[in-house]
Amino acid sequence: MAASHRAAAHTSFTPALHRREPILGSHGFVLEPLRLIVILPRSGGIKDPNTLDSRLSWFGYVLTHGLWYQDMSHDYQGLGTRGKDVTVYANTVPAVTSSSTWGGYQDYVFGLSTNLGIKAAPSFETVYLLYLDCTPGETSSFKSCHGGGHRPFDLTRTIQGLAESRLFGSEDSLAVVTATTTVAAENFDRLTWTATHEVIEAATNPRSEQANGLPGWYLPVENPPWSGSPWSELQNGQPGTVMEVGDLGRISSQHIRLRFQCPKGFASCNSATPTSPEGHYVFARTYSPSAAQANGDPDVPPTPVPYYSSSTQKDWYRLPASGVLTVPVTAWSVTDSPPWTLSGSQLAGPGNCKLTGIPVTVRNGTAVNLGVKTTSPVTSGTWCVFELKSHRSGSEGSGATPDNGGDTFHSWVFGVYFP
Ligand SMILES: [Zn+2]
Repeated sequence: MAASHRAAAHTSFTPALHRREPILGSHGFVLEPLRLIVILPRSGGIKDPNTLDSRLSWFGYVLTHGLWYQDMSHDYQGLGTRGKDVTVYANTVPAVTSSSTWGGYQDYVFGLSTNLGIKAAPSFETVYLLYLDCTPGETSSFKSCHGGGHRPFDLTRTIQGLAESRLFGSEDSLAVVTATTTVAAENFDRLTWTATHEVIEAATNPRSEQANGLPGWYLPVENPPWSGSPWSELQNGQPGTVMEVGDLGRISSQHIRLRFQCPKGFASCNSATPTSPEGHYVFARTYSPSAAQANGDPDVPPTPVPYYSSSTQKDWYRLPASGVLTVPVTAWSVTDSPPWTLSGSQLAGPGNCKLTGIPVTVRNGTAVNLGVKTTSPVTSGTWCVFELKSHRSGSEGSGATPDNGGDTFHSWVFGVYFP
């Protein structure tokens, strides 16, 4: 015992002291197994394994039956070990246009499901996942091409006298993934990582970003901001919307390619079948409260490139009247790993703030004295939230080069305020 303990200590690596990411709470939300209904614009031969239709249909199966699902159910309990999936290929799936609305999508799903005999499923939580063609140039919210989103169903809607609540339960929801132009022409990996992100958020927080104060897994938005977590500003700097389990992992920055192997004994699911699901699929790495609690890599599934990031000692720092402040930042990694670049910028807030002392090259244990300077007058209610980004390859941000097989960047968030 003593000998092995010494041996372990000899080779051990200690991550530099750092604070953990915020812990998202369920706010009393209890999950049920997921029923995923995938709705796709029909294109090409659906039995042809090379068409996107066929591959997206299998991805619905993989998403609800594979390792990713099991990783999710470890934290988001109630999902069970597997879900259910159905794919509907339709000729009538509406494309995204400037007049698209969530209510319009809901009416479409209701009509389609009614025609096909798809019924409510009370012991499941159902997510209807629409892959949508997009009219290039759309940029607003969920309507932006190359995007995605999710929303609760409006249970007051009726169509031709039928109450849509006959089909949709209060914890069922709608998720959309929008193509750059057509779904058929889209990059398959990008469709699957966006779908992963929207589906797990729809499942864990069906009331979506408007959930503040309601049941669901999210980080709430508080008023004033410094009475809550600065991480609640992480959604591309848009204030006032809650942070969900996909957002802390930053959809643009953290993906993983996983192999899917058919379960033993499932005859229609093996590599001899033309449209086999066996293969590699890209998933969004997603925030895990238990992994965050353990204070290492806060996201699952685990990345093959060990996690590295930065940390401040506090969430919020009080600004002096001068508007000038020094904030100590520590770089850390879960294991001994090559150096990386620490950069950062203002993410949100009515103030105008600048960071000095970055970009800088760091590694585990590097201490950085970050300068904060407000370039607007410091008055009561001034605040700024910053995102620090640790990245190793190229520049950080969407479209940047990720670590080989790993993430693109890792975020840390802190704020300054003048009460
Ligand atoms: Zn999201």
